[in-house]
Amino acid sequence: MTAPARHLTIIGAGLAGALLGILLRRRGWNVDLYEKRGDPRVQGYGGGRSINLALAERGRHALRAADADDAVMHHAIMMRGRMVHVGDTEPVLQRYGRDDSEVIWSVHRGDLNIVLLDLAEAAGARLHFDAGLDAVNFDSRRAVFRDPRGDSTREVQFEALVGADGAGSALRAAMHRVRDLGERSDFLDHGYKELEIPPRADGGFRIEPNALHIWPRGHYMCIALPNDEKTFTVTLFLPHHAGADGGPAFDQLVDVDSARDFFERDFPSALALIPEFDRDWRANPVGQLGTLYLDHWHLDGRAVLLGDAAHAMVPFHGQGMNCAFEDCVALAQQLDAHDDLANAFAAFEAGRKPDAAAIQRMALDNYLEMRDRVDDADYLLQRELELALQDRHPGRFVPHYAMVTFMRIPYSLAMTRTDLQRGILERATAGHASMSTLDWDAIDAEVRDLLTLLEDVPA
Ligand SMILES: Cc1cc2nc3c(=O)[nH]c(=O)nc-3n(C[C@H](O)[C@H](O)[C@H](O)COP(=O)(O)OP(=O)(O)OC[C@H]3O[C@@H](n4cnc5c(N)ncnc54)[C@H](O)[C@@H]3O)c2cc1C
Repeated sequence: MTAPARHLTIIGAGLAGALLGILLRRRGWNVDLYEKRGDPRVQGYGGGRSINLALAERGRHALRAADADDAVMHHAIMMRGRMVHVGDTEPVLQRYGRDDSEVIWSVHRGDLNIVLLDLAEAAGARLHFDAGLDAVNFDSRRAVFRDPRGDSTREVQFEALVGADGAGSALRAAMHRVRDLGERSDFLDHGYKELEIPPRADGGFRIEPNALHIWPRGHYMCIALPNDEKTFTVTLFLPHHAGADGGPAFDQLVDVDSARDFFERDFPSALALIPEFDRDWRANPVGQLGTLYLDHWHLDGRAVLLGDAAHAMVPFHGQGMNCAFEDCVALAQQLDAHDDLANAFAAFEAGRKPDAAAIQRMALDNYLEMRDRVDDADYLLQRELELALQDRHPGRFVPHYAMVTFMRIPYSLAMTRTDLQRGILERATAGHASMSTLDWDAIDAEVRDLLTLLEDVPA
């Protein structure tokens, strides 16, 4: 059933807001998008955080649903796996999947946002920049927007508001004044800072472009993702405060000299690639990382939250945007299926909340894996066994990373199967140093016993 032409006011024209605008316009909805920042197509992208993002199948599927995939992929760079930098040895590529059909893509946040804004506008969405949501009267259905450049405000009438205004959502705060949303935030002890690897003098990439580079160092790490202008964005993840173990922390790196000393000691190969280290260190702030949990995502038929506004997560699975894009498709589908907005929003929340909770937990688990385990012998043996079991039991033993990244099965199902598979891998490899001594009959029997055949969601 197609919804009659109606109106939605989307708060935030970032990644999810712009994509939702396209999807809704294609379904005949009238859409107004209000964005606190200026138009990035006029004044350049001032995103302020995480310059590039890993795009995976879930996100690409949502982009295809909006006919946006081709335009986005024009800017994307393939990442086949993790290139792990340890000690003085040559970095080694750990493939994410079996071949180049199982990869992820690095996309510049600004390019992606601009492509989606152009498509939203072309589809007929009305875009309003320099308009930050300031106050909402849910009884009279009037919202006040403030221009952050001055002090002017404007008030608009709405039928319903959709909050795509990110982790610090102003709409969420306004809804909370009317209904307790049960909000909780768990901030990580770690923060992040971004630095840049520029192109080589001849214009090429300085290191292997088709990989996500990792410099794991136990409780902290650097990663680097390629950009299509032949740069890499390096992100240092480090505790905010020094702990009892005396390990490094942002609060000890009080100036650029101490930061440089730290890199010379712990990340010399990365530092050698960052000629403007001092400039970047001074210019880029330390970002916070956390998980946002809400009991309720909507206020009857008057407002609903999605993406980071509803369920911000730590970035260690590279799924926050992918999940936000899945939310957009799910909300559009519920709007198709229900005439009544309250029912559509309730069905959206009921359908997506278990999956958001699952990817939030898996993102925290992946944090430990990337930080502590990618160069650890037990982990590498389990990873080798995981790939062998994928071949021995196709469609039954599907590696965790593949379920989350290359498939579109619900995140909650991926999490349940991951927990079962992790148990199999740990039991099978306990006390073993190589694949040659494993008890294959027992492992195969356990796989058949615990895991059913798994099919992906049809296209
Ligand atoms: C370091 C880091 C790395 C990441 N890496 C990845 C990755 O590799 N892959 C991945 O999938 N995800 C990644 N993420 C997560 C991803 O950035 C988010 O999940 C994604 O941006 C969420 O999209 P969104 O549209 O919900 O929110 P946002 O992208 O935050 O967009 C919100 C928009 O709302 C606007 N806004 C804010 N307040 C108001 C207001 N009051 N009124 C109007 N507009 C407002 C903002 O200006 C912004 O444009 C990463 C996050 C971080 C921090």
